[in-house]
Amino acid sequence: MEDANLLQYSKDNLESLLSMLQEFVELESPSHEDKAVSDRCGQYLFEHFGRLGFSMEKIPQDTCGDHLYGELGKGAKNVLLVGHYDTVFPVGTLNTMPFRRRDKENKIYGPGVLDMKGGIIMAYFAVKALLHLGLFPQHTVGVFFNSDEESGSFSSSSLIVTKARQYRHVLVMEPGGTHLNYVKTSRSGRGTYEVIAKGIAAHSGTNPDKAISPIEEVSRQILRIKEWNDGSEGLSLTPTWIHGGIKGTCMVPEEASFSMDVRAISAELCAEAERRIRTMEPLLPGVKLRVEGGIDKPVMRADSTLFETARAFGKAFGLDLQGIHVGGGSDGNFTAAAGASTLDGLGVTGDLLHNIGEFAYIDHIPPRTALVAKLLLRL
Ligand SMILES: [Zn+2]
Repeated sequence: MEDANLLQYSKDNLESLLSMLQEFVELESPSHEDKAVSDRCGQYLFEHFGRLGFSMEKIPQDTCGDHLYGELGKGAKNVLLVGHYDTVFPVGTLNTMPFRRRDKENKIYGPGVLDMKGGIIMAYFAVKALLHLGLFPQHTVGVFFNSDEESGSFSSSSLIVTKARQYRHVLVMEPGGTHLNYVKTSRSGRGTYEVIAKGIAAHSGTNPDKAISPIEEVSRQILRIKEWNDGSEGLSLTPTWIHGGIKGTCMVPEEASFSMDVRAISAELCAEAERRIRTMEPLLPGVKLRVEGGIDKPVMRADSTLFETARAFGKAFGLDLQGIHVGGGSDGNFTAAAGASTLDGLGVTGDLLHNIGEFAYIDHIPPRTALVAKLLLRL
């Protein structure tokens, strides 16, 4: 009966969920562009979760929107719901990419509709369902909403970890993926590195033979690094930026550099990538190499028992959960690595996140919202 009621509530309230999601999406919130703009978006959550009864607290920030933490209920801290309210879309994106609803396609579109404003509003309705049905559990539910996840959670990750350690479980409301049944049970670790090559500068017409070209060194290193990619999803090193010299001059520069994004499926592969990058030897005689950066997101492994519990609960709502691996990271990487029992990707489903075509599936929302409510109730 409880399951049927949760599902029915989620279905009956889909319209209000979608209109709330529209309001939320229409408050733009790029990670580090305009604090005042982001704070307006955060204020929306602060007020709405406050009205549900959460004791909301703002954690002030200088350059991004204030992070938000709230608690509802009495008793042991049981489940912490985690979500980021920032998006990758700059202010003004709504002009070209407005919130749109296309019932025939079963889709809603808009900046952050999938990643991850949809998941935050799902969390809101999951709690609301429990309150409305008189099912709110005898323990504390927490929420943490940060405003800088898309730029690396540099000001929020340690705060999230501190809170996560106080709770028995962490549910990350990031998008589930492209399928009704998907949740995220593993995420690659991520590193960002810059490799700086220093050679000897010289006139490129008069005495090119006197030069030791850092541009050539960097080019060779990039080709060599490509060979370290293992061809599967296990380890990938991808150059993302290259720099060197002054355009239009006849000079071999003294310095050139490149950055790369490193993804590894296991902690062992993260360590292996780190070791290889740190010990890179120059390929041209006379060049000096310097490496900056490091692994900034550890590998995420969901709590397998928590996943199995969610899978069992999901059946009542017509879900047959499957855990998937993705290369992209989330704040779940931090909470899982800190030892908190974590399950990720419980939010909305859809595709093309971070893209102008970003969308979420409408009819996947009710069963997945009911599942979140059930987890809050029975974990
Ligand atoms: Zn996200």
